[in-house]
Amino acid sequence: MTTSNVGSANIGVVGLAVMGSNLARNLASREGNTVAVYNRSYERTDLLITEHPEAGFIASETIDEFVASLAKPRTAIIMVQAGKGTDAVISQLAERFEPGDIIVDGGNALFTDTIRREKEVSAKGINFVGAGISGGEEGALKGPSIMPGGSAEAYKTLGPILASIAAIAEGEPCVTHVGTDGAGHFVKMIHNGIEYADMQLIAEAYDILRQAGGYSPAEIAEIFTEWNKGDLESFLIEITAEVLKQVDAKTGKPFVDVVLDQAGSKGTGVWTVQTALNLGTPVSGIAEAVFARSLSSQSAQRAAVSGLPADATEWSIADKAAFVEDVRRALYASKLVAYSQGFDAIRAGAAEYGWKIDLGAVSKIWRGGCIIRAQFLNRIADAYAAKPDLESLIFDPYFKDAVAKSVKSWRNVVANASLAGIPAPAFASSLSYYDGLRSPRLPAALVQGQRDFFGAHTYKRVDRDGTFHTLWSGDRSEVEQEPSTH
Ligand code: NAP
Repeated sequence: MTTSNVGSANIGVVGLAVMGSNLARNLASREGNTVAVYNRSYERTDLLITEHPEAGFIASETIDEFVASLAKPRTAIIMVQAGKGTDAVISQLAERFEPGDIIVDGGNALFTDTIRREKEVSAKGINFVGAGISGGEEGALKGPSIMPGGSAEAYKTLGPILASIAAIAEGEPCVTHVGTDGAGHFVKMIHNGIEYADMQLIAEAYDILRQAGGYSPAEIAEIFTEWNKGDLESFLIEITAEVLKQVDAKTGKPFVDVVLDQAGSKGTGVWTVQTALNLGTPVSGIAEAVFARSLSSQSAQRAAVSGLPADATEWSIADKAAFVEDVRRALYASKLVAYSQGFDAIRAGAAEYGWKIDLGAVSKIWRGGCIIRAQFLNRIADAYAAKPDLESLIFDPYFKDAVAKSVKSWRNVVANASLAGIPAPAFASSLSYYDGLRSPRLPAALVQGQRDFFGAHTYKRVDRDGTFHTLWSGDRSEVEQEPSTH
């Protein structure tokens, strides 16, 4: 950095691996931004400024120079390894920043870490923003979906900068002030959970089309391409068709047949399910998707399998077009459940952590830039615009009608997949969730009876207020419990 650059950058990026470099290049390409860059090891900085002189980066070799290169209020986006790396950079910046300055963590942090960091940093008067950024490397460069959480004051400075680099969907930048402290990273976590469910559902649809329908990967690519013109239009359906079209150059086989069938993960799906378990909100579709990856990766167990009986019945398909349409409808309805559960989890998180999250605004910023971007999100935005306190997305008239048109196909697919011995855990669990939600009576009443029997956990009655316990080991009479004074 030269002395003439002191205080001249309106935004800085710390951490110049693939995500940070791309985000820095994106920022530099937008009018009005002067971007300061810094990385712990200078090689990465040197590479970036050498390869991209057009960006006009202000590069620093030390953190002190980097901080000096920022205009006030100083604003820096951290894009380093989540966890200890992020904590290390936050403390370096917090030692040097002044009240009113803004530290943004753009990495994949767990929202509870963001809540903790915000508390620590804001105690010094410095703003801390946890921003979920989705879209991978390409999104970071060309326009991601951004989910910032932090103070409204910080968002005044940061909002226009983030809006300048975000993806644009129907004329609107895919960024909104999600809420305070960890709200942005929470919403990003749920985004990733939904992404897991969406991918698993698409994979189950492929497997059914292939195993029961006898279609080749290339033919299924065609089917997905067709589906991408309707209700299912989305980035994930589009790239699935591309993956299925791919032929392995070495063997001439479909690419999907030469890839080891063990799905990896980086943890955000697990976080979503763990968080939902703590919140008591059922994200069963997301959970099935996470567990399906776990099952696929049980290599020793799967290798040891021999001769487990299937006793399956062949799926007899008289009308192939009707079969494909059944699978499409089952996919759409199951996907709706996954999204509905994800939005429920955001609502539950907001209630628990005191965030005011506009679910319609969240669905809008997911329309572009991110992995789950889809046409469908416009419908979700409409649903929340019509009724912001909608109890479940499935109750929205448009989606209710869509499910009504799909439910017969959904049952056909789940029942026949089961009979044919084709695993379809996310399809099946989504349908069970739907049936559970619409059932006027659930066997939970029996569970309450069991709990009261072995643990005197008490129960409520349908016909009277109060809390009751039956004297199971005595005369089996019912006693009303005194209201708790706690
Ligand atoms: P990464 O591989 O996660 O991290 C490498 C970067 O972290 C390097 O710049 C490295 O500096 C720096 N770093 C690690 N420990 C450090 C420490 N103690 N002090 C200072 N710097 C440290 O990089 P990435 O793949 O570009 O990802 C950056 C962030 O974005 C991560 O949080 C990641 O989870 C998130 N991410 C998001 C997406 C998405 O789609 N939104 C995709 C990928 C990643 P050195 O060069 O000096 O080692």
